[in-house]
Amino acid sequence: MTQEDKLIKVDRNSIMFKFWKYFSGFAAIILIALWLLQIVFLNNFYESMKIREVTKIGNYLRSEYNSPDFEYQILNYSQKKGMNIEVIDEEGHLIYPFNWVEALFKPKVMDEQTFNEFFSSIINGKEKYRVFVVKFPNLENPTLVYAGYLGLTDDVKYYITIKTSLDPVDSTIDILKKMLIIVSILSLGVSVVLSYFMSKRLSKPLVDMSKTAKKLGSGNYDISFRKGDYTEIDDLADTLNYATTELTKTIEMRKDLIANVSHDLKTPLTVIKSYGEMIRDISGNNEEKRNEHIETIIRESDNLTTLVNDLLDLSKMESNLEEINFIPVDLKNTTAKIVNRFEFQKEKDGYVFNLDFKGDCIVLGDEKKLEQVIYNLINNAINYSKAEKIITIKIEEKDNKVRFDCIDKGIGIKEDELEDIWERFYRVRDNHTRPSVGTGLGLYIVKNILELHNFEYGVNSQLGKGSDFYFIADTVK
Ligand code: ADP
Repeated sequence: MTQEDKLIKVDRNSIMFKFWKYFSGFAAIILIALWLLQIVFLNNFYESMKIREVTKIGNYLRSEYNSPDFEYQILNYSQKKGMNIEVIDEEGHLIYPFNWVEALFKPKVMDEQTFNEFFSSIINGKEKYRVFVVKFPNLENPTLVYAGYLGLTDDVKYYITIKTSLDPVDSTIDILKKMLIIVSILSLGVSVVLSYFMSKRLSKPLVDMSKTAKKLGSGNYDISFRKGDYTEIDDLADTLNYATTELTKTIEMRKDLIANVSHDLKTPLTVIKSYGEMIRDISGNNEEKRNEHIETIIRESDNLTTLVNDLLDLSKMESNLEEINFIPVDLKNTTAKIVNRFEFQKEKDGYVFNLDFKGDCIVLGDEKKLEQVIYNLINNAINYSKAEKIITIKIEEKDNKVRFDCIDKGIGIKEDELEDIWERFYRVRDNHTRPSVGTGLGLYIVKNILELHNFEYGVNSQLGKGSDFYFIADTVK
């Protein structure tokens, strides 16, 4: 794509285009509404306003018919509103405004046909008044007429008519139209341009973010998502920055793991191979030596099995294949069972296990997974012990809670590493008493299982003195 193509091509799905489209649309809708109100409805609005006014005056005057200043009221409204107000009798003679000629000769101001047209529905009692538009042949504009019944005086019925001209609003509309055309073109132009810049400004942080994310995608982890524009984008930037840090950590740790795992796989395999060769070539006939060599082969195979198992557990956990199966678990029994699995270490390396159990100690959990937690904790206590090979396992029930402690007198953990040890693949450097032991997954697996159970957990440790790994669960009765 050339630079020119890029400039011309508009991405209709982009936030910027949509912002721009909606802003412009919004301005257009407002203008259309304005046009409709001003031009289409102005005529109707004007007419209904006049009808309302004339009806109000007519009804008021009818109600004032018997009052002494009735005539004054008529005069007042005629002048104030510029309306033609007349009172006629039932034969169409003009009674008010008073005029000598008319008083003497009593000419009819309304012929019978017009009178019937105006008042027939009022005479036969269907309604008290009517408001309608009449086009008088000698007048240019249509006239709005109010015709109503006033009352009976000396056996004569009197009626009132109010006439007002409906001036055409066309000339006003013409002026408005011209103004509106100018206003519309101007405001549409301004809103299109303004919304273009606004949308560009609004979408900029997202565009920047996407550029940064692309860099991340192409493997550049040394980036940071910029903040400081909008709260929502700031939150997103925080999340993405966090994700980047985590990603970087994971990648670092994976690199470490591959290095560790290859080393951890190679070492036992080399040992197994060389001991196998030794048996074949040297110790084959010497039972004592041979058994010793076979023992080494078995131990190294066990190490390999642990490593492979840890990796399997990890991948199962990370793909969430495992569901938790809650049943009441007797922590004392489970722990005793696991401690038995370390019988070999006890005899061979002289480890001492102190079991200190108090109460029933039944908790709700997944037995297999809790076994794994306890196994990993004891295994670490053994791996990170020094000369003092005493491991105390305390399980105590108190206030409806069970607390499990695995306490060793080993190498301990530095305070600034207490949080990191729970991370996957994390291994404290420089302090491994047995460098080939462990994958850095044991505590990560422990943490995941305990969190799945919603158990509180943690570690208290002092460098050089030992560690106490614990978890706390609710009891089941
Ligand atoms: P590993 O397989 O290396 O033991 P873990 O996840 O079980 O991995 O433990 C992570 C790190 O935490 C270990 O490498 C070790 O440095 C430290 N650690 C774990 N348990 C203990 C302990 N009981 N005493 C001292 N350090 C420990």
